[in-house]
Amino acid sequence: MNDSLAGAFVPRWHAIPPASDNSVHWRRWTVCFAEILLHGWTHRREYRPGLVSLITGRADELAGLPPRDVVARVAAGRSELEEIVGRPITGFVPPAWQLPGGFAALRETGIQYSVGFRRLDSSQPLSIPLATYSWDWGRLPLVGRLGAQLGTCSRLITPRAVPVIVLHPADVDRGSVATAVARIRQLKNAGWQAVRFAGLMSADSRRETA
Ligand SMILES: [Zn+2]
Repeated sequence: MNDSLAGAFVPRWHAIPPASDNSVHWRRWTVCFAEILLHGWTHRREYRPGLVSLITGRADELAGLPPRDVVARVAAGRSELEEIVGRPITGFVPPAWQLPGGFAALRETGIQYSVGFRRLDSSQPLSIPLATYSWDWGRLPLVGRLGAQLGTCSRLITPRAVPVIVLHPADVDRGSVATAVARIRQLKNAGWQAVRFAGLMSADSRRETA
C-alpha cells in the first residue's frame, strides 16, 4: 500500500449493481490505497442533462438534483462502498466536480470531507485551496488540453493552493500517465511531500504538502 495514495470509487457504476462474486477483485484493488473516497453512487446523470453532461458523457450524476436526492445518492453510495471494501468511508469526490449545495448538502450522509476541484471542504470553517491537475475531461480533446492547464492556473491565482494529481483509468490509454508522473517529480523536487486528504485537514500539516 502507498501510504499517501487516495482512491476514489463508484460502487454502482452506471447503475449496474456490484456483483457479489467481485468482492475479491474490489478488495485487491482497494488495499492499494491508504485512503478510499466515494466518487458518486453511479457516476451518471439520469435526468435533464446539461452542458457538463454533454461534455462528460453524463458523468455529472448529482447536477440538477434537489438536496434530498443528493443526500439519498451519496448515502446509498457510501453504505454500498463500505460494504464492498470493508472500511469506513468519510471522504467524497463529486462526480464531474459537480456538487449542488456544496459540502452543506452532505451533512446527513456521514461524509466528513469533500474534495472539490478548487477546495477541500469539511465541517471546519475554512476550506483548503487546491490546485487540481487532471487530464481526463471527457470526450473533447480540446477541453482536455485546456483542463490540464487549470492546475497551473490555480496555483498562479492562489500560490498556497495544495497541488492534487488526479489520474483516471482513461489516462492510461490516452498516454497521460507519464505527464502526471513528470508533474509529481517536479512538485517533489520543489519540496512538496505527498499526504492524505485527511492529514491536510490538521493545521500543522498544511505547510508543504501534495
Ligand atoms: Zn469521475
